[in-house]
This record gives sequence, structure tokens and C-alpha cells, in this order.
Amino acid sequence: MSISPSLKERNQGQCELCNSEASTIAYTVSPKNDDSIANQVALCPKCLENLDKDDAFYWRVLEGSIWSTEPSVQALSYRLLQKFKNEDWANDLISSIDLDEKTVSWAMSALAVKEIHKDAFGNVLENGDNVVLTQALDVKGTNFTASKGTVVKRIKLIADNHEQIEGKINEQSIVILTKFVKKN
Ligand SMILES: [Zn+2]
Repeated sequence: MSISPSLKERNQGQCELCNSEASTIAYTVSPKNDDSIANQVALCPKCLENLDKDDAFYWRVLEGSIWSTEPSVQALSYRLLQKFKNEDWANDLISSIDLDEKTVSWAMSALAVKEIHKDAFGNVLENGDNVVLTQALDVKGTNFTASKGTVVKRIKLIADNHEQIEGKINEQSIVILTKFVKKN
């Protein structure tokens, strides 16, 4: 999207991430999708090109931009920092910056999508929730079928797979696909 004069003005014509090149692009920070400048960051072509790359050396520019007072710039910078959180410089920044909660969740929204456990109806599941089976399930390793409507209490989310939870049916711990449950 081409840049509006008021967005360009916000950082005196400079890219809001690297603060060194001229800004020529208005980048809207997802999931926002309108062209209000509060949701945009003024970028130079170089930063735009690097958004999809994991060039930690390049992204040291975030050490400056993360201190911006603009929530959109904070959110994008914080989101990009997550890619490098295994490196000391990024990790230090993440732990020293004090952004408000809304900005942090804006930043993390793009990344969190993959990790959120949701039931068959899109409700977010959490550890300790009770769920109901939305269809009969064969319990692997037994000849037992859990009928539709069976309540599974105090589920545990499987950390590395957002499509799976763990719960007990008939005293037996089993893995259940999130698409077959409904939050109770
Ligand atoms: Zn730039």
C-alpha cells in the first residue's frame, strides 16, 4: 500500500523499523486490515523485503524500533523479535521492554494462531477444561468405545500439537483430537 503523508510524517519520512532509510510503504500489521495509520508502520523497501527472512543480523534494527511510542511499531517489532528469541540480544529486549498487554497480544496474534487449542466449534480450550465428545470414539488399545456425549474432565493440552488434548475416559488417559470435542 502506498504511504499516506500523515504516516510518512510520523517518523519524519524515515522507515519506522530501521530508522535509516526513507519510508515508501505503508505496512498494515495483521490481523488489522484497514488503512488507518494507527494500524500501520511506515517501511522502507529493505525492511519490507526482510520481513519474511530470518536474518538476525539485519533485524538488530529492532533494538531501536522496539522503543517506539507507536503501538503498531511496537507490535511489529515485538512480533519480529520472537523469531530471534534464542539469541541473547533479542531475548534481553523481550524481557526488558514493558509493552501494554493489548500491544503484546496484537504482536503475538500472528504467531499464536498455530498454538491455540480449539474445540470443534472454535472455542478456545485450556488446561483443566471439561469437554464433551461430539462423536463416538474408539479408544485405542482397548475394545472400548466412548460414546458421543461422554464428558472428559480436566483435559491437558498437548503442548506441541494444537489438534490434540489428553484426557481420561474410564480411568484411562487417552489422546483426543480437539475436532471431536466441545467445551463443556
Ligand atoms: Zn527500514
